[in-house]
Amino acid sequence: MSNNKDYSKVSVLIVGAGPAGLASAIQLKAEKPQIDVCVIDKSADLGNHNLSGAVLEPEALHTLLDSAVPGWQETEDAKDVLAKKVDKDNVMFFLGKKLSFNIFFMLKLARLFGLGFGQMIHMGDYSVSISKLTKWMGRIAKELGAEVLTGFAAEDIILDESLGCAKAVKLVDQGLDKEGNKQPNFVEGEIINADFVLLAEGCDGLLTEKFTEKANLQRQSPQLYSVGVKELIKVSSEQYEKFGDGRVVHAMGFPLWTPFIGPGMFGGGIVYPGEKDHIAVGMIVGADWKYCDFNPQDALTNFKNHRFVKKFIDGGTVVEAGAKMIPEGGYYAIPRDPRTGSIGKGNVMILGDSAGFVNMLKIKGLHNAIDSGIQAAKAIAENLDNPKAAASRYTELIDKSNIAREMKSAMNFRQMVAKFGPLQGMPLSVFGALLPKFKIEKDYEAMTPAPYRLIPNQQFDKDTFTAMAATEHREEQPSHLTILDPEICRTRCTPIFNSPCITFCPAGVYETVHDEVKAANPSNCLHCKTCQRKCPFDNIRWTAPEGGGGPRYKQM
Ligand code: SF4
Repeated sequence: MSNNKDYSKVSVLIVGAGPAGLASAIQLKAEKPQIDVCVIDKSADLGNHNLSGAVLEPEALHTLLDSAVPGWQETEDAKDVLAKKVDKDNVMFFLGKKLSFNIFFMLKLARLFGLGFGQMIHMGDYSVSISKLTKWMGRIAKELGAEVLTGFAAEDIILDESLGCAKAVKLVDQGLDKEGNKQPNFVEGEIINADFVLLAEGCDGLLTEKFTEKANLQRQSPQLYSVGVKELIKVSSEQYEKFGDGRVVHAMGFPLWTPFIGPGMFGGGIVYPGEKDHIAVGMIVGADWKYCDFNPQDALTNFKNHRFVKKFIDGGTVVEAGAKMIPEGGYYAIPRDPRTGSIGKGNVMILGDSAGFVNMLKIKGLHNAIDSGIQAAKAIAENLDNPKAAASRYTELIDKSNIAREMKSAMNFRQMVAKFGPLQGMPLSVFGALLPKFKIEKDYEAMTPAPYRLIPNQQFDKDTFTAMAATEHREEQPSHLTILDPEICRTRCTPIFNSPCITFCPAGVYETVHDEVKAANPSNCLHCKTCQRKCPFDNIRWTAPEGGGGPRYKQM
């Protein structure tokens, strides 16, 4: 590890220093200062791997900090992170490249009649940089005495079969060459033993998936994902003022779907204020898209060129960019122990986006991530002498919390859109609570040879996009991306779908080299994991590279 302290055994090990994991660390140290809490994260620095179009509903953060950090609202950090309160909530429908309609009144009506869509209102929330939020929470956790260690990637969770719980987490080996041979600087990945393990890795966590398999946790429906691509653009002062620092825009319709004539994809665009004279523009697309030549970055280009958006960013310069997936499957996609219903098992609990606590009716999950961190800390504090009871207590607390209420209220929304498409699925979802669970396919199974009709004339500049994510990996290490069976690429994927990974990977990692599709540029990887979930033959696996690699987001 980074210093001389011995981390081979800790009381609580939290994998992932995002809002969920750090909320747990803060709550635990506030409640039980004597416990040793260690948070590890694969990023080089806090906040580097956190990206979201983040609108934060602040109640959970208040609950966490009101007891842990008296007077927190007066700190410079709080004033900086929570500087932008939403006072203008634009919910738009884009029809074609030019027309736009503000449909916010429909959400107000929905709220009036108690319909789920009413949850989409963001007035009074905060538009935040999740990277900055994470850095701030990390500082608080450290000040309270938690060890928060960046640059340490976990590769496996080790179970004690006889006890039915986890005993340790293994870190990634450092210092292997591309062929896997040990170099002079080789350091074997340390094993950290722990009484409690919290999996708070964010979306599609590596250890979460390994644990789900090893402990035989199950989801009632497959997890569905969306892919988000986002740019932070430096604009003129006039453009920024015109936009305003209290406005958030969520737009559906063009370029993802147009009623009756298509294309027909779930998702939409966002426009948020950034630091002074910066505007963030993003595109979030349900990963169950069917077009084999579709790239979310092309949709982002179309979105940026829409008349409504263009006026705010025209002539601006992209200063930061990134990509990430969001778990959208909701209530039915939460991994649970089939016997007990626990979200985890024994001494292992699954938090935040790793559990899938995103409310798609709100298009938000940050508040649930923080809340789940609080509940996990409470479950541990109550069970210090009986770690095996922690996961079931955690689940009881979650079931009584606002998280469960929200997840249940939105339980059929995304499933119905996946089943019926945006045009029928969204209106039908009004009756979601009355309808049974549908059988839905995994995202990758939706791929067809159909083309996306709105590909922009100009090819998206992935090199610049990747440079703006400031991603880095040590070049001389084994590739963390594996194509399981190259024969499938050659004989099936390329002939039928023309190798879509080459198109949709936002960082241009995949290329055809000597007639073979390869992960040719793994050091460009943004850790979005889209390839693992969208390869139409489920033929790609993402594993953790050496700690410290990956993007370096600062303001996303
Ligand atoms: Fe995302 Fe996979 Fe491309 Fe990495 S290689 S940026 S995980 S799609």
